[in-house]
Amino acid sequence: MSAIDTLPPLRDVIRTHDLQARKSMGQNFLLDLNLTAKIARQAGDLTNCDVLEIGPGPGGLTRGLLAEGARRVLAIEKDRRCLPALEEIAAAYPGKLEVLNADALEVDPLSTLTPPIRVASNLPYNVGTELLVRWLTPADWPPFWSSLTLMFQREVAERIVAQPGNKTYGRLAILAQWRSDARIVMQLPPEAFTPPPKVSSSVVHLTALPAPRYPANANTLSRIVALAFNQRRKMLRAALKGSAPDIEDRLLSAGLKPTDRAEQIPLEGFCALARAIDSI
Ligand code: SAM
Repeated sequence: MSAIDTLPPLRDVIRTHDLQARKSMGQNFLLDLNLTAKIARQAGDLTNCDVLEIGPGPGGLTRGLLAEGARRVLAIEKDRRCLPALEEIAAAYPGKLEVLNADALEVDPLSTLTPPIRVASNLPYNVGTELLVRWLTPADWPPFWSSLTLMFQREVAERIVAQPGNKTYGRLAILAQWRSDARIVMQLPPEAFTPPPKVSSSVVHLTALPAPRYPANANTLSRIVALAFNQRRKMLRAALKGSAPDIEDRLLSAGLKPTDRAEQIPLEGFCALARAIDSI
C-alpha cells in the first residue's frame, strides 16, 4: 500500500481506535488508500471546491479527498467511535477538515460550506437512497452541489442510470436523469471492503445540469413517478388513479396512452404528465 499522506495505514488506525465495523451503522470500510485516492479523483478537480462527505468512518476517503487538494472537507459521521481517528486527519491538514458528529439526515451543509461544493461519499446503505433523493429534489435548481460522487450497492447504481424498458428503470432513474448527468465510473467487488458486504458496489458520478432537462414541478414529478412505479405492472390509468380525478384526460393531454405502463415512458413523458397534472 503506497502512502498518500504521512498518517498511519488504515489497518493500524482501526486497531489503535478499536473501530470494529458495525452492521447497524452500515459500516463496510475501504482500507486501501490507493483505492480511496482513485475514488477521490473521480470527483473531479477539488482544488477550488468545498467537499461534503457523509460517513467518513476511519477516514480513508477523507484522506483521499484532502490529498487531492480539496479546499475544505465537511465530514459528517454518526458513530462517535470514529472521531479520534478523524481528529488525527484534521491535525495533519490544518484548517481543511471539519468533522461533525451527527446524523447526515439532520444537517444543513450550507451552514458550513461555500459553493462550489462537491459531494463525495462511500454512503451508509441505510440512508444512501434517501440522501440521494433529497439532493435531487430541492424545489429550486441548480442545487447546493455541483457534483455527487457516491458509492452504492451495484443494484442501486444501475437503477440510477437505467433507461426506459429496463426492469431497473424507475423513480431513481427519472429523478437523477431529469436534473443531472449520471454515469457509473467504477465497479468494486465485495473484497474491496472490510468486512466484505454480500454484494458488489459501484461509484456513480452525477453532474448537476444548469437547468432541468424538461420543465416540471419537483414535488409533482416525484409523487407521480413514485405512484406509477409502485405498481409498475399496471397500466398508468390504474397506477395513477389517486393522483387526479380526471387522470385519463391528463395522460392524453401529456401525449401518453392511459394503457401504457410506467416502464415504457421516457423522462420527457413523465415531465409532460407532471405539467398536465399541475395545470388547472
Ligand atoms: N467512508 C468510510 C469508508 O469508505 O471506509 C466508511 C463508509 S461506511 C459504508 C458508512 C459510514 O457512514 C460509517 O462510518 C457509518 O458510521 C456512517 N453512518 C451511518 N449512518 C450515518 C448517518 N445517518 N449519518 C452520518 N454517518 C452515518
